[in-house]
Amino acid sequence: MPDYPRTVTVVEVGPRDGLQNEAVHLSTAEKIAFVDRLTGAGLPVIEVGAFVSPSRIPQMAETAGVFTGISRRPGTRYTALVPNVTGLNRAREAGVTEIAIFAAASDTFSRRNINQSIDESFVTYKAVCDEALAARMRIRAYLSTCFGCPYEGDVPPLRVTDLARRLLDLGVFEVSVSDTIGVAHPGQVTKVLEILLARVDRARLALHFHDTRGTALANVLTALGIGVSTFDASAGGLGGCPYAPGATGNLATEDLIYMLDGLGIETGVSLERLLDASGYVADRTGRALPSRVAQATRATRKPGVGL
Ligand code: MG
Repeated sequence: MPDYPRTVTVVEVGPRDGLQNEAVHLSTAEKIAFVDRLTGAGLPVIEVGAFVSPSRIPQMAETAGVFTGISRRPGTRYTALVPNVTGLNRAREAGVTEIAIFAAASDTFSRRNINQSIDESFVTYKAVCDEALAARMRIRAYLSTCFGCPYEGDVPPLRVTDLARRLLDLGVFEVSVSDTIGVAHPGQVTKVLEILLARVDRARLALHFHDTRGTALANVLTALGIGVSTFDASAGGLGGCPYAPGATGNLATEDLIYMLDGLGIETGVSLERLLDASGYVADRTGRALPSRVAQATRATRKPGVGL
């Protein structure tokens, strides 16, 4: 067996990246209950919401209220996505100490997603990072479309590496290299990581995979073998894929934990309690969430006719 890391940090993005892309709109109280259940499950990092324009993304309008209402467990990090200095100020008012910024490796994607070119977005994020660092906040960065762009197709790994370096130079502690459209496969993961790791310390990298084509866990396993030890995932697989309506998006946290447990890799997460957290949301969305482990667990608990 390859030399896998003994511990892995799982960054739970369900309350933000997941719920932001769901049709169902949870109330503030329901979001608080969801985050508290994720805390209870032992997730070490939870992205609680986003301080974005409520008119653009109404699903995130309650983020300040959610931060006020959650029960924080010492040692758990609670983060929020922040697109600009206005969002940063709202995050600070809500008592947020760790933020995430969101850059893209494709110019077309960046313009369509945040209405700024990549270079323009770096001007915005420089201002955000300078203020956040002065306020002693920690900053994480997403770099989207690292394995392919819905508009431009292939994205050169050297560009991904350049942009990851530029984000680290802004003072972020970690870059989450993201497969926004779920096209990555293990061969590509190996190639991209080889190029990235020539210039970026693996301890500064996280990977954010989508399971749109069924390759997310294979990609995680490949990256584990290369020594990456931080992965994003969404409880229940919440979130879908905006670029392939109806398809699976975010890797489900349950599926990731099930595999890591099986490999004997320590995460501090209770699969049982995590299933309780995603089950709470599934009951409110009125549909089974994409997580295979969640679906299998629910099915086993309500046995039908076995074959
Ligand atoms: Mg995602």
